[in-house]
Amino acid sequence: MKSIRLKPGKERSLLRRHPWVFDGAVARGSADPGETVRIDSHEGEFLAWGAYSPASKIRVRAWSFEQAQRIDAAFFRDTLRRAIALRERMGIASNGLRLVHGESDGLPGLVVDRYGDTLVAQFGAAGVERWKDVIADALLDITGCPRLYERSDASVRALEGLPEVTGWLRGDGPTAFELQEHGWRLGLDIALGHKTGYYLDQRDSRLALHEYTRRLGFGQVLNCFSYTGGFSVAALAGGAGHVTSIDSSGPALEQVRVNLTLNGLDESRATFLDADVNASLRRFVAEGRQFDAIVLDPPKLAPTAAHAERAARAYKDINRLAFKLLPPGGVLFTFSCSGGIGVELFHKIVASAGVDAGVDAAILGRLGGACDHPMTVTFPEGEYLKGLILMRKL
Ligand code: SAH
Repeated sequence: MKSIRLKPGKERSLLRRHPWVFDGAVARGSADPGETVRIDSHEGEFLAWGAYSPASKIRVRAWSFEQAQRIDAAFFRDTLRRAIALRERMGIASNGLRLVHGESDGLPGLVVDRYGDTLVAQFGAAGVERWKDVIADALLDITGCPRLYERSDASVRALEGLPEVTGWLRGDGPTAFELQEHGWRLGLDIALGHKTGYYLDQRDSRLALHEYTRRLGFGQVLNCFSYTGGFSVAALAGGAGHVTSIDSSGPALEQVRVNLTLNGLDESRATFLDADVNASLRRFVAEGRQFDAIVLDPPKLAPTAAHAERAARAYKDINRLAFKLLPPGGVLFTFSCSGGIGVELFHKIVASAGVDAGVDAAILGRLGGACDHPMTVTFPEGEYLKGLILMRKL
């Protein structure tokens, strides 16, 4: 077994059970991509077993902090079984859910979503790439699903020196799927959609918008970065008068239209804008438009902490514009899915956007990723999705 020796003092984060070892922390030792290594402190004490990744800044990702643990097929089967059992225990009322959420489930780099009896997996790090076959077999075995589609086309693969791979890894079948979320029907395609086909992490936030719409009776709703319109369906099904969906992806907007029809929602209550959100918000401000509720769910603007400053300006800009479009009593649902922007920083950005817009707002609630995208105290990066519900004061 190969081993990695850390530089003096660099054992602290592993001792706190944070699973990442950065390249700068390694004093000596190397291994093949994904190979299991023993990680020792500078003094030679065992810290963890991990997967080595020669191309990545995150040089080693820990599998286990127990010296007696063997990293073998049984380890993966057991860890997967526990992650999947946790979701069963959560009793999520949807036929689409996340079964494995990477580091937060003890499997760094692995994402597995289940859509009906089809699994979709993303192997985002050298370690899980090396154990791909074992993981795929175990997943089919544990879930009883006959097929698994690989969506290893996320940009993180390049950081790990891995090529993009997509296609059926086990079995095959249709890639189109009809998700049933909160009783709404939402079409998606696991091969063509973003991520594994859908943003399952926003399930609870869509329900929150739905409930607010029912209670407050929003007339005009603006859904920015709508993708396939999960929030648009939620608002219309809650009785919103009219929903404007903006996205820069034509196919995503086409799917919004399909999803409205699937739910028996009248297209006359909808506007679809294939446009840039920032430019559209500016135009609406110039035109003096107002919206009773606005959803701002931008893509990941700061994938890592290094991008945080520039991203902070971009977040502030769209939030400032959105505040200007809210009448008194109007409600803003604003999100950030950037791992590089923490909860506190996000709150500061939104607060200063409000100040710049000259709008005083009350926080009605906080939102986060759905429970099948768990967070753990040892891995704060897992809390990537955060949101605020704000009401413009009267
Ligand atoms: N709210 C969605 C998920 C949003 S993902 C849901 O609940 O499913 C972010 C979306 O922003 C993507 O669909 C992407 O196409 C779109 N997008 C990215 N940059 C954009 C821009 N500058 N203007 C408009 N849309 C953009």
